[in-house]
Amino acid sequence: MELINAAEEFLHAKGIPARTDMTGAECTTFRTGGRIALFAEPRDAESAAAILGFAREEGMPHFIIGNGSNLLVPDEGLDMLFIRLAGGLCSFEVRGDELIAGAGASFAAAAKHSVAKGLMGLEWAAGIPGTVGGATAMNAGAYGGEVKDVLKRLTVLRRGAAEEITPAEGSMGYRRSEFSFPGCTVLSAVFGLAQDDGGAKERMDGFSARRREKQPLNYPSAGSTFKRPEGYFAGKLIEDAGLKGFRIGGAAVSEKHAGFVVNLGGATSADVLAVIEAVRETVYKKFGVMLEPEVRILRSEAI
Ligand SMILES: Cc1cc2nc3c(=O)[nH]c(=O)nc-3n(C[C@H](O)[C@H](O)[C@H](O)COP(=O)(O)OP(=O)(O)OC[C@H]3O[C@@H](n4cnc5c(N)ncnc54)[C@H](O)[C@@H]3O)c2cc1C
Repeated sequence: MELINAAEEFLHAKGIPARTDMTGAECTTFRTGGRIALFAEPRDAESAAAILGFAREEGMPHFIIGNGSNLLVPDEGLDMLFIRLAGGLCSFEVRGDELIAGAGASFAAAAKHSVAKGLMGLEWAAGIPGTVGGATAMNAGAYGGEVKDVLKRLTVLRRGAAEEITPAEGSMGYRRSEFSFPGCTVLSAVFGLAQDDGGAKERMDGFSARRREKQPLNYPSAGSTFKRPEGYFAGKLIEDAGLKGFRIGGAAVSEKHAGFVVNLGGATSADVLAVIEAVRETVYKKFGVMLEPEVRILRSEAI
């Protein structure tokens, strides 16, 4: 509590906006989870570096959140500092064949902008509800595209200093990279794209239509709950295990797409976790495949 008060004072002195009433239910797309003790929104790189430096020096538990579209916050909340990049860290622009975007920007909005400006290469990203920082950290991907295929360079904060680096340093792989907090905080990213061959808008619209048709977008979720196991599809295994519609409390395996655990209304994070664990156990018993969650499950003791 003392550390939280000290951090609050530090943020106030630096003029960095902060709240003490944010909840997981408000800042994640699952719409579950309790109160985050302190939620700061630095509006420029200097403020982000200052608050991260403070937290590190004081040994204060902290976490970088993007749009919370791949996160589960515990119901009891977290006695820690969350940092969400805001203001000038959310802008994006096209220059030549490059899309230059702040890490707090909406990845989908930036991708749509690049297509509107006559570029192609990010059509697949239109329906991913994360930030540029979150997409880079997770090496987000869809419909055959991945961040690592188009990321050209990025500016990150590591050990308190901002550096411009290349993707080669990030060992980017399937839904993972070393550009992820806590080792690294992405401040901005540059995507190398190409001149539109005339079909980019149609491809992007097509991918969005496929999402609307196949995904339960009318319910809160974190997208695909599980990573794709080698040689299988998580959704197919879950469906074949007879788990479509399987429900605990307000959380359930989606009837529309078995790869999604959804919040049907009033779910707790405990409900979501219970569904995740039941699915893993059942699929393992039936098919010998242990599904690994793609969603990052935050626990107070693990951060
Ligand atoms: C309906 C729906 C559909 C989805 N479809 C897809 C899809 O097709 N493909 C896909 O890959 N994902 C998909 N997702 C999952 C999610 O959108 C992606 O993983 C996204 O990239 C997460 O971004 P975020 O900003 O929400 O990150 P968060 O969920 O807030 O955070 C995820 C991780 O990234 C880290 N992080 C966030 N910002 C930074 C930063 N600036 N620097 C360092 N680390 C950072 C966090 O610390 C955390 O570990 C979907 C989710 C939903 C709800």
